Amino acid sequence: MMSEAAERLAKVRADIAGAAQRAQRRAADIELIAVSKTHDANAIRPLIAAGQRHFGENRVQEAAAKWPELQGETPGIILHLIGQLQSNKAEEAVALFDAIHSVDRSSLVQALAKACDKAGKRPQLFIQVNIGDEEQKGGCTVANLPALLTEAKNAGLSIDGLMAIPPADVDPAPYFALLDELAERHGLPLRSMGMSGDYENAAMLGATHVRVGTALFGSRG
Ligand SMILES: *Cc1c(COP(=O)(O)O)cnc(C)c1O
Repeated sequence: MMSEAAERLAKVRADIAGAAQRAQRRAADIELIAVSKTHDANAIRPLIAAGQRHFGENRVQEAAAKWPELQGETPGIILHLIGQLQSNKAEEAVALFDAIHSVDRSSLVQALAKACDKAGKRPQLFIQVNIGDEEQKGGCTVANLPALLTEAKNAGLSIDGLMAIPPADVDPAPYFALLDELAERHGLPLRSMGMSGDYENAAMLGATHVRVGTALFGSRG
């Protein structure tokens, strides 16, 4: 019998495959990140047992407390930081994560460039774009994106893609399309977009990474 986690995972994977097919994309080009923030190791293990390898966390501290043990149990886990990163945690983040989706400002670009140099490794990097120009939301503005990309380039920091969280309670499709277009315009191959409520939509509109928490783990309470 399949565990509940395995059933949820199978459904999300099938949804992504269906969306990819409708858009004539390859499902293999869409990476599913299981967002495990707030969930403990016992909640995560069934997903690992079901074959999931990419996981997302939004806090460096929480990830550092939880993941080394799980990574010791199962090789090949890929960790993604999807939450805000303070510049003074850049070194720790570079050491712990395989990808950082929340590069959003000049000071962080500089801190990450230094941290990558020092560590001799570079995680995949996404610039988070405040795609709906919302006041309270993180991410660099659409208008500032070219300048931030130039700054990263000058600092010797390669950027792989863009990440966005569209405004809540409106159709996300135009925002996914805009992020895809911005990535295309700047020659960036990766697009991190789509969450539990809209990952099929995102998968149809060019996402290379979808970040799914609730649909895999249930509510965060
Ligand atoms: C929590 C979170 C997610 C996952 O959200 P769900 O709605 O639970 O799928 C995705 N992206 C970011 C940046 C998050 O903070």
